[in-house]
Amino acid sequence: MPNKRIHNFGAGPATLPVPVLEEASRGVLEIAGSGMSVLEVSHRSKEYEAIHFDARDRLLRALGLDAAEYAALFLGGGASLQFAALPMNLLGGGTADYVNTGEWSTKAIKEAKRFGTVNVAASSEDKKFSYIPKSLKLTPGAKYVHITTNNTIEGTEYGWLPETGGVPLVADMSSDILGRAVDYGKFSLIYAGAQKNLGPAGVTVVVARRKWLESATDDIAAILSYKTHLKADSLYNTPPVFAIYMVGLVLKWVEAQGGVAALDKRNRERAGRIYAALDAYPQVYDPAVTQKEDRSYMNVTFRLRDANGEKEFLAGAQAAGLDGLKGHRAVGGFRASIYNAMTADGIDALVDYIEKWARK
Ligand SMILES: *Cc1c(COP(=O)(O)O)cnc(C)c1O
Repeated sequence: MPNKRIHNFGAGPATLPVPVLEEASRGVLEIAGSGMSVLEVSHRSKEYEAIHFDARDRLLRALGLDAAEYAALFLGGGASLQFAALPMNLLGGGTADYVNTGEWSTKAIKEAKRFGTVNVAASSEDKKFSYIPKSLKLTPGAKYVHITTNNTIEGTEYGWLPETGGVPLVADMSSDILGRAVDYGKFSLIYAGAQKNLGPAGVTVVVARRKWLESATDDIAAILSYKTHLKADSLYNTPPVFAIYMVGLVLKWVEAQGGVAALDKRNRERAGRIYAALDAYPQVYDPAVTQKEDRSYMNVTFRLRDANGEKEFLAGAQAAGLDGLKGHRAVGGFRASIYNAMTADGIDALVDYIEKWARK
């Protein structure tokens, strides 16, 4: 156990469970009695293959998906690479529907336009992305519908999933995968950078229907092709070995917490306490998302009514051991990222600080 852990509310790379860090630190010294560090083993070794396939199978199990129907890929390049890889592989000059709910959706749209036609099926840009649009104008025969289930920067989250009438539903779930219990089988493809809810930076997961991946184009660079990685089980080239190892450890920890359903329940309750503390002092706090059903339970965004107090608020938080509360530079204000690994003590300390600040 490290001597002194602060409460890290940073949006990503984000806090990880201490038992995972402890186990990983042992793995850095030696893995599975091999006489080698996990950082030193060949990605073709039996030691690594055990880690790799275990993480893959655990991920599908945690999401409640059948391995015969769905594949889980471990890729490099971050979620940002998937903004391009998805349309490169599966748009093929056709039309895709995108819902624009923030900075990350905007980036995904920009990349998709290079590979086909993008119909923006709905947008909340008119109100600084402070809500989730409820009605979508979908294109008949679209290749897919893309949503960002949790908007990490703005602090909104879908409390529902769009009905697409059989068109594949795709989601950037970088900041809420494993943090929410939804029917993951409703999605044809999910992608997520690991550094919020899954593990350290360096690996991105793509979970998708095998049949759909098999229909992807062959006419792109092998390294960018979903088919390449599907066929090679994410071992086409050297994968981000250490990051995948840690995702496996996080998945074991998720199971020990009772799985995604238990975490979802706990996360909602935790976020509810923070929002309640903010809402109790409307003369002091200005929550960025006013429509309660659209509030994220992964990233809580808020401002002070008196913006002059921001510096002092942050300094006081820092002194109380609360780190990473500064809002994204595009939005300002504050953001508390409360992913799965945030501790109960961290939540208590934040709620306490919010109340004390308001009362003083
Ligand atoms: C963090 C984040 C990204 C960007 O991830 P990278 O791995 O840095 O490319 C994309 N989408 C969402 C929703 C995010 O939270």
